[in-house]
Amino acid sequence: MMNVFGELHLLRGILMTWIGVFLMLQSPAGGASVEQIGEGSRHPMRGKEIDWIDGDYVLRNDQVVAVIARPNADRHANMTVRSVGACIIDFTRLDAESDQLSCYYPLAGRYQFFDNGLVETGDLDGGGVFWRCRSTAATARNETVATIEYQLRDGDPYLTVIKTVTGEDVSKVTAADSVRVDTTFVVGTLAETTTGYCEDEHFRQTYGFEATLGTKTPLWSASGRNRQLKYGADAAERSENRVQWITRIYAASSPLDLWGLTSGAKAQRFSVSGAVGEHPRIKLSVIAGSIGSLELPCEWRSAADGKSVVHLPPGQYRVRGEAIGHLPVEADIKVTSESSEFALKLGAATTVQVTVVSEDGQPIPCKASFYGAKDEDGNMTPDPVFGIESQSGAVGNCVYCADGQFVRSLPPGTYDLLLSRGPEYDAVFEKIQIAQGQQRTVRATLKRVVDTTGWVSAELHSHSSPSGDNTSDQLGRVENLVCEQIDFAPCTEHQRIESYDDQLEKLGAQAFMATCTGMELTGSPLPLNHQNAFPLKWKPYSQDGGGPKTSSNPVTQIARLAMWDDNSDKLVQTNHPNVRQLVEDRDLDGNPDGGFAKMLDFMDVMEVHPPENIFMTSEEVKAMKRPGTQRILPWMELLKSGRRIPGVVNTDAHYNWNGSGWLRNWVRSSTDEPAKIRTAEMVDRLEKGQVIMSTGPFMTVQLHHPGLEAPAAIGDSVTVDGAGAKVAIKVQCANWMDVNRVEVFVNGEMQPELSRTRKTHPQDFGNGVVKFDQHLGVTLPGESFVIVAAIGERMELGRVMGKRYGRRPPVVVSNPIFVTTNLK
Ligand SMILES: [Zn+2]
Repeated sequence: MMNVFGELHLLRGILMTWIGVFLMLQSPAGGASVEQIGEGSRHPMRGKEIDWIDGDYVLRNDQVVAVIARPNADRHANMTVRSVGACIIDFTRLDAESDQLSCYYPLAGRYQFFDNGLVETGDLDGGGVFWRCRSTAATARNETVATIEYQLRDGDPYLTVIKTVTGEDVSKVTAADSVRVDTTFVVGTLAETTTGYCEDEHFRQTYGFEATLGTKTPLWSASGRNRQLKYGADAAERSENRVQWITRIYAASSPLDLWGLTSGAKAQRFSVSGAVGEHPRIKLSVIAGSIGSLELPCEWRSAADGKSVVHLPPGQYRVRGEAIGHLPVEADIKVTSESSEFALKLGAATTVQVTVVSEDGQPIPCKASFYGAKDEDGNMTPDPVFGIESQSGAVGNCVYCADGQFVRSLPPGTYDLLLSRGPEYDAVFEKIQIAQGQQRTVRATLKRVVDTTGWVSAELHSHSSPSGDNTSDQLGRVENLVCEQIDFAPCTEHQRIESYDDQLEKLGAQAFMATCTGMELTGSPLPLNHQNAFPLKWKPYSQDGGGPKTSSNPVTQIARLAMWDDNSDKLVQTNHPNVRQLVEDRDLDGNPDGGFAKMLDFMDVMEVHPPENIFMTSEEVKAMKRPGTQRILPWMELLKSGRRIPGVVNTDAHYNWNGSGWLRNWVRSSTDEPAKIRTAEMVDRLEKGQVIMSTGPFMTVQLHHPGLEAPAAIGDSVTVDGAGAKVAIKVQCANWMDVNRVEVFVNGEMQPELSRTRKTHPQDFGNGVVKFDQHLGVTLPGESFVIVAAIGERMELGRVMGKRYGRRPPVVVSNPIFVTTNLK
């Protein structure tokens, strides 16, 4: 839902004005309000875990904003955060907006809240509002009924949650809630208090859960992806037929801030200046002072502008500020019973200023990878870490820079700096040595050396946080795509139609990548029942963005997706299938049963990666531990059986550290300018199989025959009379990869007499950009299809693609050319 307001950016100004007026009319300063989200009451919120839609409820005052999901049987926050009716799905402080909450399940999911008709809202005596709902069923079948009441009082920095269970026997009902927060969250408790918390340091959000009764510290335990918080036995008030426990839930910038909030301390504002360059990710910590039962140092992060808020009780504290590549600063501060502002200035920075331009001198998107290197004395500098893999901008040792210009602060040392922009460009390799406090400047021209005229690169399968199974910032995904020079990428989050438009706009990168709405429909069985489709009609503010639901029958599911939006024209892609299961053995018991072959009727393309598997021998295939991941050989068998489903390869990236770019498709296109790419043309070309699949090398394949006016291209079907066919193969690589073997496959069979390697045919291979450019005579039976593959055997993509994906070989595989030969 992060995209909602971007899509409607024309309306945004009007909407914001309207919200302003609304708040002035409806809410006195500090006053709490409750309202149902719908047209005219859609409030923007910041944070990467935002999931609200129309029909949900918003509670807000001048401190916090919380979204309660509409009680409804099919209200799900996202693919993996399910049955969220009456739960809190978005929650943040207003002075540090960063919603990172997947879901707070009051009563730990033991009751279902499926009836929106049971919702009551109203005003509280003394200023404030409430939202209340009764359960429709108990999952424990113990005949009890639960009521949840959320209260937000004017000026309170927390939401009060009253959970009441009534029934004949409530003795087994324990006081527990559960929370869904993922990946970088850590859970803890404030010792000697009734407060448990979960903290995401990097995205600056801590959620606190304080029992209002009792003295015991709650305990965390895991149950599946949810974490359960069991309050002390003294936290509940019990009678024979009724048990009740009350929790205050807080949003805070850190555990320290939470401790201050729960102690009623005032907000202290910190402002750190002196950070040089982008993504400084300033860390602050209290390193001395009285901070109750917390342990020193107590850390938190500032926002990108260097500002942060921490609630601190009166006292003397020593505060430290630090950021990568800067000398730290320490200061003694005196906090009184009033709010104050504290300014700190970081020490001198060590920086590299990088400008990357294309051959015409214009800045272009690029990825900069920094690797620690040895200096002359043999001292090794470690690889820098600029951010975690779910962040945007600077991730791991990489800086993703959509406008080609950045200043990076980094520890002094010796570095190999790699500047790259995907496999059509030569990478620039620089060695830099930089001393403490030094400022270095690097200007590089990236040359587009590989000629891909008539083809554009496409990634058809990517994820980020809205997918629900990862926590990556979606902005970082789009930066990945743009900086790796992907020309076309639909948005394909799990179970939700969405768009990348507002992220592209934020990056100012609309000229560099075309995109469209789409989704991945993710059912079971895995891995077969996953399909992507684009374009799809996006209905913002609605469940799943208006997308279809899954089915446990893959045939039903793919048919539903294919026919969605009144059977509109779209591309339907089967993701990472087990091809044997698809075509012949649905239960994978070894006995052929027809599989789910009916899926083929609705499928336009299928993923066949990894492409290097096309070179496997039958012995190697037999020895595979996971034979289902061998897709490309069974795909060729499928083609041989007459089912002409084109192949594609995609990264299925979920994280932002070299997540995109190491697999791509080149698709035939009438334009080479990304901004002019039309989705309908991409759909059409992909359906026709005018596609090249690659980890980096670019290869064109044509079929020449004296009887053809023009050579046949990838995806074509031609008829020729008699022999004389030649396959024209041209492979190009930028300076960071190479190929040393080329193979031609006729009807899925490798043709040994056409095998070319650098060892056996050194004269056929080049050492410049063009690695191979040969016409090979080929003998074709009556009906055939020709596929060509090239690989750098025992070679790697190398450090440009990072330590993990860089270990993959350079490899490229064409889609087939179909040939009918009238033999004389
Ligand atoms: Zn996926």
